[in-house]
Amino acid sequence: MSPRDPYKRKAGRPKPESVPTSEEIARGVKELKSFGKPGFNYRERSLALHGMICAKCAREFKEADRRLLTVHHIDGNDQNNPADGSNWENLCIYCHEDEHSRGRLGDYLRNDD
Ligand SMILES: [Zn+2]
Ligand SMILES: [Zn+2]
Repeated sequence: MSPRDPYKRKAGRPKPESVPTSEEIARGVKELKSFGKPGFNYRERSLALHGMICAKCAREFKEADRRLLTVHHIDGNDQNNPADGSNWENLCIYCHEDEHSRGRLGDYLRNDD
């Protein structure tokens, strides 16, 4: 009895089903580099995604007034910044203040006159 059978079927190669393409890896790395970073500018991202309009009072803002438009985190967690913007809401500083109604934006609003 031969220990090796030459006709024994070869073990099938494992299919690389779960291995991402290099393109996907590159894209993932790129996103990781920007999203979730402490300095990641979700505000610019949200303005670009949702437009320069307050989600509450529907007031529109121009480029020059963009500082009056802020990004509210719907779930209240400012670390939760999904790339699709589903946790962001563009609110003007007045509506944003109203939304929180706790004066947490006091510093931001202090320079209004
Ligand atoms: Zn508003
Ligand atoms: Zn907020």
